Amino acid sequence: MDNTNCILLRFGELFLKGGNRAYFESVLIKNIKSALKGFKFKFVKSQGRYYIEEFPNEDLEEIISLLTKVFGLYSLSPAYKIKTDIEEIKKLAVKISPAEGKFRVTVNRADASVNMRSMDIARDIGAEMFMSSNRLTVDLFNYDFELSVDMRENGFSYVFYKKIACAGGLPYGTGGRAVLLLSGGIDSPVSAYQMAKRGVIIHAVHYHSFPYTSELALQKVHDIAKKLAPYIPDMRLTVVPFTDIQTEIHKNCPSDFMITIMRRFMMRIAERVAKENGAGALITGESLGQVASQTIESINCTNAVVSLPVFRPLIGMDKEDIIAIAKKIDTYEISIRPHQDCCTVFLPKNPVIHPKLKDAEVYESKLDITALEDSALQKS
Ligand code: ATP
Ligand code: MG
Repeated sequence: MDNTNCILLRFGELFLKGGNRAYFESVLIKNIKSALKGFKFKFVKSQGRYYIEEFPNEDLEEIISLLTKVFGLYSLSPAYKIKTDIEEIKKLAVKISPAEGKFRVTVNRADASVNMRSMDIARDIGAEMFMSSNRLTVDLFNYDFELSVDMRENGFSYVFYKKIACAGGLPYGTGGRAVLLLSGGIDSPVSAYQMAKRGVIIHAVHYHSFPYTSELALQKVHDIAKKLAPYIPDMRLTVVPFTDIQTEIHKNCPSDFMITIMRRFMMRIAERVAKENGAGALITGESLGQVASQTIESINCTNAVVSLPVFRPLIGMDKEDIIAIAKKIDTYEISIRPHQDCCTVFLPKNPVIHPKLKDAEVYESKLDITALEDSALQKS
């Protein structure tokens, strides 16, 4: 059984933040602790490093999996914390290391009571490992694994060799607040992830066309929110009924402008939600040229109705790359469930690909925009 009794955490970009560093760290620590709520553990901060200790061994894997999703953490190492004793460390090094491969040993000695030089300790440990297996060789430059020994001032040492990549980015909550237009599709959940990675708090708005779209379409969005929860804890979700608006557009506007005008409503309503909730930007999952509604002209038509900045983190990405992220964050399988989303209701045969802003404005002027939006928001 793996007796790892400690996890060493590393954070990266925070160092760049100069004067803000204390604030970024405090948010990161709060997020780490809340990611692990429900588990028994002790959080230790020492010499600019964080450690998770005193957790039951059976929770190790789950704790690691949750920590890899905390933005602001760059990597972690499952480690063994033992009383500093070079003979014991040698035994441990042999016990935990892979039995074959090229390796090196690095020792960091912050404990002045150990009266041996780091280099000599490393050589001693390396020799012991080398003797333990004839398939282990030392290579200081081109190694398969690095066994690290960190001898702290308090008389304890951390011994580890595995390094697991974490989510990176900036701590969630340090980047302001934005409203995300969240469909049940592949793209918008990836957008949520990308912006949350820059620290932005996400408030999702979903437009629902009941009864044209089923409860299962809405369930998809709830399931996506659940999948995003380790990255985006407690994401707010506002569900806005959209059927009346769609029906009115369908009745009064040319069918080739259906999508353009629908999108304009989506953007305006999202902006209202943003302003009511103190959010300073909107986020969409648009990617240039992906579909008719994502040409420069279409984006111009939908962008024109809002004054807040609109973030489109996927704008220059290929679908393949977006899908790779969707798979990594595990939203992909939910997104490809077949339930229709509101955009396919009243879908015109030939949506306009290069809509003119003037035309959209003229067609839309037949509608009582504010009343339609008020009513939808009241029912949200
Ligand atoms: P996605 O995979 O995110 O649905 P898509 O490639 O299907 O994107 P569109 O359907 O054209 O593209 O939607 C573009 C963007 O409009 C979406 O990424 C999302 O931000 C927003 N959007 C579309 N439908 C909805 C909806 N029902 N509720 C909220 N936002 C939506
Ligand atoms: Mg879609």
